[in-house]
Amino acid sequence: MKVTATVDRLRREGIEVIDFGAGEPDFPTPTAVKAAAHDALDRDFTRYTPVAGIADLKRAICERYRLDYGVDYKETEVIVTAGGKQALYNTALVLFGPGDEVITHAPYWPTLTEQVKLADATPVLARTYAEDGFAIRARTLLDAVTPRTKGIIINSPCNPTGALISEPELGLVADAAAERGFWIVLDLCYEKLIYDAVPHNLPKVLATRCRDRAVLCGSSSKAYSMTGWRCGWAIAPQAVTSAAVALQSHETSNVTSITQKAAVQALTGSQAPVTAMLDEYRKRRDQLHAWLGADPRLRCRKPAGAFYMFIDVSDVLSTDGLRTSIDFADALLQESRVAVTPGEAFDAPGFIRISYATSMELLQEGSRRLLEFVRAHAPKTTYA
Ligand code: PMP
Repeated sequence: MKVTATVDRLRREGIEVIDFGAGEPDFPTPTAVKAAAHDALDRDFTRYTPVAGIADLKRAICERYRLDYGVDYKETEVIVTAGGKQALYNTALVLFGPGDEVITHAPYWPTLTEQVKLADATPVLARTYAEDGFAIRARTLLDAVTPRTKGIIINSPCNPTGALISEPELGLVADAAAERGFWIVLDLCYEKLIYDAVPHNLPKVLATRCRDRAVLCGSSSKAYSMTGWRCGWAIAPQAVTSAAVALQSHETSNVTSITQKAAVQALTGSQAPVTAMLDEYRKRRDQLHAWLGADPRLRCRKPAGAFYMFIDVSDVLSTDGLRTSIDFADALLQESRVAVTPGEAFDAPGFIRISYATSMELLQEGSRRLLEFVRAHAPKTTYA
């Protein structure tokens, strides 16, 4: 969001910038979804709704998860929230408190750990590694467990790495959660953005092995290109959902009534727009990877999901040049007018994150500028 604000400022000053910082789809919201919102307005569906969301939407969420994953949840186990962000925040406030440790994997989306701190609990980090494709492994997560562990938050596909947790690895974490009695919070915000046909039925793993200890957080933002509408959800054991509803009733009440009707359409209507967007992201990912592959100093693998390329730029850094990836990102913006997010934002210094939720033309021009920038700045001693 900070990168986006800088880009906005430069653009207002009349400076043309290529923005690879944005963490949101560049596609319009699907037409049928917009039509449902128009219809809701025309019918004056503009009043308070139940805090947890309208029955139609809660039913649509249960039905979507039943169709996609074969899991059975009741409407009373669902709360509709202002984006996945509020689903995760409600969950953190309801489940975690002073003295609790909550584990997540790093590099991570910073909101996850900030929310744990807002709940007065302590985030604990389990590293994932570039050489291992940033795979999220049960062993690393479980090695961080102590008697104070209250929960483990898993984000798969992961922002910023695009990596996944496999079903067997999640199964091991789920068994430990059931045995030791800690929570698993699963951030499925990018669940519809997985490029290859790899098994990723994480809801089923949790529903089967530790249902009483699992919270699933989802969102319409990325799947349906609806970031501005603010609609997400949490599915959890009834006591957790009831506590989240009580909390939300004193915070924000219901999600915008019109948004809720639009989300019903998104979840129950044709899923063809989701597939079309995924196909386009895949083309961009493959093309971007090929372009950046021209310079071995930009080290990255093809991500399995989400829409970010997470690139190791440490070969371009040096003590007498660009010292950190923040320096790298600042200089790239100043000199080449390309905005990227430095890895420091995700607790991964030495990396930059490029969002490929932008047009192929801009990706091509941005890659050209990035390659030129690297040629100009890389330490001369390393490469001729
Ligand atoms: N989880 C992750 C990993 C994210 O990157 C984001 C958005 N950037 C969210 C959750 C929440 O998105 P929203 O609130 O728009 O659903």
